[in-house]
Amino acid sequence: MKLPIHKTKIVCTIGPASRSEAVLERLLLQGMNVARLNFAHGTLQEHSENIRRIRAVAAGLKRSCMIMADLPGPKIRIGKLLDEPLLLEKGNEVILTTAKGPAGAANQIPVEYRRLAESVSPGSLIFLNDGFIQLQVERVSGEEVFCRTVIGGPLLSYKGLSLPGVKIFTDAVSNTDLKFVAFALEEGVDAFGVSFVEGEDDILKVKGFAQERGQAVYVVAKIERAEAIDNFDAILFAADAVMIARGDLGVQIPLEEVPPLQKKLINKANLLGRPVITATQMLLSMTENIRPTRAEVSDVANAILDGTDAVMLSEETAIGRYPVETVEMISKIAASAERERKAIRALADLPAYFRTGAGSGNAGVEDVITLNAVESANSLNVRYILTHTQSKGTPCLISRFKPDCWILSCGGNAKTKNFLALSYGVHPVSLDGETSCLADKTINRLMTEGMVVPDDSVIWVEDELYDDSMEALSVKIIKTGTGFGISRSPV
Ligand code: PEP
Repeated sequence: MKLPIHKTKIVCTIGPASRSEAVLERLLLQGMNVARLNFAHGTLQEHSENIRRIRAVAAGLKRSCMIMADLPGPKIRIGKLLDEPLLLEKGNEVILTTAKGPAGAANQIPVEYRRLAESVSPGSLIFLNDGFIQLQVERVSGEEVFCRTVIGGPLLSYKGLSLPGVKIFTDAVSNTDLKFVAFALEEGVDAFGVSFVEGEDDILKVKGFAQERGQAVYVVAKIERAEAIDNFDAILFAADAVMIARGDLGVQIPLEEVPPLQKKLINKANLLGRPVITATQMLLSMTENIRPTRAEVSDVANAILDGTDAVMLSEETAIGRYPVETVEMISKIAASAERERKAIRALADLPAYFRTGAGSGNAGVEDVITLNAVESANSLNVRYILTHTQSKGTPCLISRFKPDCWILSCGGNAKTKNFLALSYGVHPVSLDGETSCLADKTINRLMTEGMVVPDDSVIWVEDELYDDSMEALSVKIIKTGTGFGISRSPV
């Protein structure tokens, strides 16, 4: 038995670039574990052929491969473009039309959603292709929505269209989706991806439908709308696995909220033992290029280090120029991240490292005191950690534990303050050459500026002798406005 080089599972979307037997075989050899068929694209006949080919190639290689049918759900899509790619340029006019039939002019984009015109008004933003292209509505006339291109780019037929802030969703699982389920069950797929899940009922609907046909199915809940985040626990419980579908998620919620949410969802899925897939744009630049960007490589590795079970490729393997090389690359990234997981875990939890880990025997006074200061600050929910430094040393030692509150650092000259520019959560305070009673003076300044109110607590970490002599560090917890409260000795 030969084990793969990576434990992380790899989901590949199968499309024109990968549906030949030759490419499918190479994808499997490079580590594909799941073949995803996106039912938003392609014909039923193509999906049927794909299923047969995947089964045949996997059997030939004596490998198992899950086949997942990804249901389109209520996603709004544009229709067939007259010429593609349609290059949209910033400032140009484009017309979205819900009129039946193919587009009549190059700058016309057919849209399948009949209620588009009544869902938007002048000023509304329209996102195409997961927000890569952004349009602003200028006027609406009958079935036509006249827009100005805000962010341009090449647009392909059948790409998704999102209306941020407009609630357009009906059932996540429509009758059309159920027809796809019936078809795919007949064809023997293993799993279904359910798009735009709102709650557990969407999962139960697909499971119930399959059960009525005497089949057990594996259901992957795609988390890509705000309601699914609110109902995540119930969805997780009902589903067999979840997919963090970052493409639509990144237009349904602010993009910058996706990374912390991804980590939270991964943690929750791990907690319940449900496999979790991190999806979309993982190695997107490899759709065109033989090498990914450093940021993409980091994204994949970080998702794995955060605990994702599987990573998914979409365009990269469906329509990309280098489907096999992309899978080879993602396998190597996975193997490398997995090799280092233990070493990273040992260092990632710095408090544990100093208390019980490799550093515990060697922890210095400065380690114990700064850790104590940060843990006290976090558990007492103090407003700030205040500290004094000449050389930047103490704020850096506090900052490494990433406390929940800000660290305000006084003392030192202009260079010291500049040297703190890279230290997380440290903000320098100027006390205009003051050298004595710095704690009182800093607190007075904060009170004057309304940054603390009487009865707030702050922590003062002080190097009482010289900055080099960490043994002299002490921590005081001070109630602002009422003078010094509890005073702690350093060790
Ligand atoms: C996504 O939105 O990230 C996603 C995986 O869904 P789809 O590719 O079906 O749009």
